[in-house]
Amino acid sequence: MENHTTRPHHVAVVGSGPAGFYAAASLLDAGAAGGPDVRVDMFDRLATPWGLVRAGVAPDHPKIKSVSSQYDKTAAREGFRFFGLVTLGAGPTDVTREELLERYDAIVYAVGSQTERRLGIPGEDLPGSVASVDFVGWYNGHPDFVHLEPPLDSERAVVIGAGNVALDVARMLLLPEADLRATDTADHAVEALAASSVREALVCGRRGPIEASFTTTELRELADIDDLTVVVDPEQVPAGIADDPALSKGTRRNLEILRRFAEQGPDAAARHRMAFRFLRSPVEIRGDGRVEEIVLGINRLETGEDGRVRAVDTGERETVATGLVLRAVGYRGVELPGLPFDEASGTVPNTEGRVTDRDGDHGREYVVGWIKRGPTGIIGTNKKDANETVRHVVADLAAREPREHSPDEVEAWLRERCPDLVDQEGWAAIDAHERGRGEPSGRPRVKVVDRDELVKLSRP
Ligand code: NAP
Repeated sequence: MENHTTRPHHVAVVGSGPAGFYAAASLLDAGAAGGPDVRVDMFDRLATPWGLVRAGVAPDHPKIKSVSSQYDKTAAREGFRFFGLVTLGAGPTDVTREELLERYDAIVYAVGSQTERRLGIPGEDLPGSVASVDFVGWYNGHPDFVHLEPPLDSERAVVIGAGNVALDVARMLLLPEADLRATDTADHAVEALAASSVREALVCGRRGPIEASFTTTELRELADIDDLTVVVDPEQVPAGIADDPALSKGTRRNLEILRRFAEQGPDAAARHRMAFRFLRSPVEIRGDGRVEEIVLGINRLETGEDGRVRAVDTGERETVATGLVLRAVGYRGVELPGLPFDEASGTVPNTEGRVTDRDGDHGREYVVGWIKRGPTGIIGTNKKDANETVRHVVADLAAREPREHSPDEVEAWLRERCPDLVDQEGWAAIDAHERGRGEPSGRPRVKVVDRDELVKLSRP
């Protein structure tokens, strides 16, 4: 469709993680591709951008984190503005959805999945039972989780879940101190982890090794960690398990790696152990005022009519002593004010990214990333996902006259409403400060985790 005007359209992107940045880049490309000219204002409730790239990806994975340089390039483009410490909500310093709809031609929500999936078992909320969402935020310096203080005083931690987040948290517990000190792990977590008594992480999958959702690179790298022995029960990963041609390539590779660990057997001299135990579901977490043990139910597998392999409780139980249970069973989206929400999937109902209201109609609101499709996929998955949504945003914008906007007026309104607002220069100052603090010790950055300090640093 043709664009009949020279005035640009203004789009608000709420959330500055990978999905938000890929959406922004794609929106800024629209004009050059013959579509409408689009300007983007990106908001984050934190002072800092990059979402899970800053606050989720494990600090010992700097290569994955380096994707942020792509986001810097997008942020430097004409027509892009970042505004941190802007919360969508109803508080006196929040902005509302209606206010954004008044000022922008479209809103793209890229808010991710901000909370945890629950286990729903007794003892889940005992001190010492910690959601991986919180633990990951804690070691990554997310301001909401700085004061978590996970108990690291027992020899064994139990990690529930057989996905990449389970591997991340187990690895972070067991990294050699020297490796840890070379990362941008928040200083409070570096000190706590360096003083930790945890020597073993027991990673429990409710289904079998074939059904585990680890990715191969993440499993393979375990072999390269100093002073770590990986323990796999040869009965759970028997010889020949990887030979089934019906399995995907990735699954077969994972099984080969697990089988190699099983064949090697445990190294008693290693300081740290990561042990995998499959066909185990958490049934109850027990303790007097804090976690002391976890009861695991032993499962068998059954294939349902839909072809999905399910874990079925055999009724047998196993009790494991531990002071720390990390629940890494997946993330969950949070309902946004005024938008429809699907409780079952924890996502906003949408058609290829266009938010669908209860009557199935589309407005000027869109979703990208985990709040659109659920908490799955790696960072790169969000590129295709964002492109799909943006195709619809651009087509819808092209069919409408842009609203009368004044970017300066919008900025003045925002600054008045959100007195602590951190703009792009403010973020650049924070970024330079953090990198500078990391330089003398060869770390990528030393994160600032205090909100007031972040605001102070952002001021000229
Ligand atoms: P995930 O891959 O979905 O894994 C969740 C795990 O929790 C699964 O093993 C699941 O088992 C298990 N689970 C769910 N409910 C359970 C319950 N009630 N009791 C016991 N176990 C339960 O999710 P994730 O690990 O949170 O990762 C989220 C996404 O981020 C994934 O796509 C992941 O690959 C990605 N990620 C990537 C990296 C990386 O590339 N390095 C790092 C971190 C995360 P079932 O399979 O039986 O449901």
